[in-house]
Amino acid sequence: LQAGNYQKYDEYGLWDFVRKRKAEGLIRHIGFSFHAGPELLDELLSAHPEVEFVQLQINYADWENPDVTARANYEVARKHGVPITIMEPVKGGALANPIPQVRDILQAANPDASLASWAIRYAASLEGVITVLSGMSTLEQVDDNLSYMRDFKPLDKNERTAIEAAQRAIAEVESIPCTACHYCTGGCPMSIPIPEIFAARNRQLVWNQGERAQREYEKVVEAEGAGRASSCIECGQCEVACPQQIPVITWLKDCAEAFE
Ligand code: SF4
Ligand code: SF4
Repeated sequence: LQAGNYQKYDEYGLWDFVRKRKAEGLIRHIGFSFHAGPELLDELLSAHPEVEFVQLQINYADWENPDVTARANYEVARKHGVPITIMEPVKGGALANPIPQVRDILQAANPDASLASWAIRYAASLEGVITVLSGMSTLEQVDDNLSYMRDFKPLDKNERTAIEAAQRAIAEVESIPCTACHYCTGGCPMSIPIPEIFAARNRQLVWNQGERAQREYEKVVEAEGAGRASSCIECGQCEVACPQQIPVITWLKDCAEAFE
C-alpha cells in the first residue's frame, strides 16, 4: 500500500476480500507491504486491526532518511503491536558495497564479517521483526547469509556502536536533503521531476552508484512531458514552495552537469 493506491483497497472491497478468504482458510495471515510515511501507516493500522504483519523498508542507512522514514514507520508498527517483515535490509545491494568510510568502520570492528552481514543482522536485531527478506544472487551470498542467520545472534553493544558510527559517516556525506514531498513539482512550468532527479543524484553522491543513477535519471526525464534538469528556466517557483529551503536551481545545474 502507498499514498497513491490505498483508497482503492476500500473502493474495490479488497479488505473484505482478504477477510473472507481468511475465514475460508485460504489465507493464513493478513498483512501488507508498505511504501509511505508514518501518518498513513498509523491510519491504516488503526482502521484495520485484522492486519497481522506489515512489511517495511528498513536498513541502517535509511533509519533516519526523511524520504524512507524507516524509524518512524517501525515505531508505528510497534505501537500497534504488529509484527514486521523487513524488505531492502541491504538497500538494494548498496550496503554490501558501502562508501569507503563505512567499510573502514565496519571492517575495523570485525574484519571477518561480510559487509552485507552487518546490514542483515542490524535489521534482524530489531525487536518485533519476524522476517528479513534478503536478495541473494550467488551461492557465496547464500552461504554467507546462512553463516550468521542459521544460529542468529543480535548485534551486541560494540557492534551497535559501530553501526552508529557508520550512520554518522553516511549522514556527513554531502547530499540533497529532499524529502520527495513533491510540493515543488505541481507549479513547475517545465514539468521537471525534481525529487526523482535529486534521488538519482543522491545515489551518485552517497552510494557511488553512477550507472544505476544515470539509468534512473534517464527513465524519469524521458517520461512523457517531463523536463530535463537542463530545461529549468530559473523562475524560482520551486524554491518558494520547498519546505526544506533547498536551492533547487543550483542543484538542478549540478544534476545537469552530472547526467547530461
Ligand atoms: S526554477 Fe526551474 S525547476 Fe523550479 S519551477 Fe522554475 S523551471 Fe521548474
Ligand atoms: S519541495 Fe523540496 S523537499 Fe519537496 S520534493 Fe521538492 S525539492 Fe524535494
